[in-house]
Amino acid sequence: MSDGEPQRCGYVALIGAPNVGKSTLLNTLVGAKVSIVSPKVQTTRRRILGIAVEGRSQLIFVDTPGIFEPKRRLERAMVAAAWSGVEDADVIVLLVDATRPADAATRAIVDKLKQAGRKTVLVINKIDLVPRPALLEIVDRYARDGIFDPVFMLSGLTGDGMGDLKAHLARMLPVGPWLFPEDQLSDLPQRLIAAEVTREQIFLQLHEELPYNSTVETDSWEERRDGSVRIEQSIYVMRPGQKAIVLGEGGRQIKRIGERARAELERMLDRRVHLFLFVRVKEDWTEDRERYEAMGLEYTS
Ligand code: GDP
Ligand code: MG
Repeated sequence: MSDGEPQRCGYVALIGAPNVGKSTLLNTLVGAKVSIVSPKVQTTRRRILGIAVEGRSQLIFVDTPGIFEPKRRLERAMVAAAWSGVEDADVIVLLVDATRPADAATRAIVDKLKQAGRKTVLVINKIDLVPRPALLEIVDRYARDGIFDPVFMLSGLTGDGMGDLKAHLARMLPVGPWLFPEDQLSDLPQRLIAAEVTREQIFLQLHEELPYNSTVETDSWEERRDGSVRIEQSIYVMRPGQKAIVLGEGGRQIKRIGERARAELERMLDRRVHLFLFVRVKEDWTEDRERYEAMGLEYTS
């Protein structure tokens, strides 16, 4: 870095079909966990900013919910949040999963980008899973769309190939002052991050409709004199049967969710955490305006 170079700053939107690895890449780019990750689709529900510095550039990455054909109100709000992340961005990065490069959701996004005439950086992700000749075929296929330049092949999981992407994006940003303090990594308030960490455990430990029929909110956050923090959270589910599953036999399931979430929170906050979880049945939480405000989503999408 030389003093003659101007400061740059801008928004880089990471978009793609569900499960292509957007949140994993964001965390690797930022060098810290700011967005939760699970093997299930639709883990990310809102726009999350992750902030990184490269030379004189401040890169503000926008992690978005996956883009797919929405049906429920919650899904419509998630997809709307994803597209709004795109419209405001200085640079768009489309992620494609190298193990399923031509799925319908990805092609639908490409069509929409073409209509909007937006130049897009293409990332072929998960190259740790696919042999090189197959990767080159994918690149060829996308070159025909005519909107992708340049193309990167990388693994958000291992970090392989990521340095080139970051350096390139840093040069693409507009000249201007940094918008965040240089040590800030995310725009999510701590209470929201804490709720996300518990929601991640629900996605990792529970199955079928449960992750999609539940949400987590932080109800209280109390700083203790001994430097620890006491956090109370509600897990909302839709039916009494779901509450029974979240609690588990003899409360074993909720205990394991709480233990893992607490361990993750202690790592992230670097302090002792006392976490208290309450499961509440609220049949219509996905139609409840208050829940959307808590998640940072628009109710009427
Ligand atoms: P998102 O829905 O696009 O945000 O995807 P996530 O980041 O939540 O990742 C979805 C799944 O893909 C998770 O199980 C990740 O561990 C996995 N994954 C993400 N990136 C990579 C990668 O580069 N290589 C491999 N092998 N798996 C990845
Ligand atoms: Mg995600």
